[in-house]
Amino acid sequence: MNSVKLLIGGNEGNRLKNMQEVKVLIGTRIGKIIKRSSCYESEPWGFAHQQNFLNQVLEVSTVLSVTEILTVGQQIEKELGRKPKTQDGYEGRTMDIDILFFNDEIINLPQLTVPHPKIQERRFTLLPLAEKWSALVHPVLGNTMRMLLDECKDTGWVRIAP
Ligand code: AMP
Repeated sequence: MNSVKLLIGGNEGNRLKNMQEVKVLIGTRIGKIIKRSSCYESEPWGFAHQQNFLNQVLEVSTVLSVTEILTVGQQIEKELGRKPKTQDGYEGRTMDIDILFFNDEIINLPQLTVPHPKIQERRFTLLPLAEKWSALVHPVLGNTMRMLLDECKDTGWVRIAP
């Protein structure tokens, strides 16, 4: 069995319904959700958008390979109404599924970098990781999630969703 940690989230459409639906689809197509952070709300990161994001980290036990998880995740994003990118950089989305960690492996493929390269830059990723996986060591950086959160320079607000 493999262990994958996924960051799920979006800011468009019915955000709560999308968060419920994505977990059902992940549970049936990727594997059993064995641990989950609280659901967090955060301001859009790197671009201006009216609607705040909901984000949550899930740990999933799966028989799939990491590239299969990417493919299935992208299919789920599409089914939940994710539109193709219209511009470079960040924009609103109904659902995004990022692969944060896959076991403690370091993967560098043309289409996939794991651990996700932006983990250490984003409080909306580090807060849920530090909540439930505080002692987890980043296999590239060698720091725990708690240490990465303490050192993170991101000033955007993130709170547990009301
Ligand atoms: P995004 O716009 O954030 O959904 O980026 C999606 C693209 O990032 C896809 O084309 C993936 O191939 C690529 N990608 C690279 N590393 C990862 C990762 N760790 N998790 C998810 N997508 C990734």
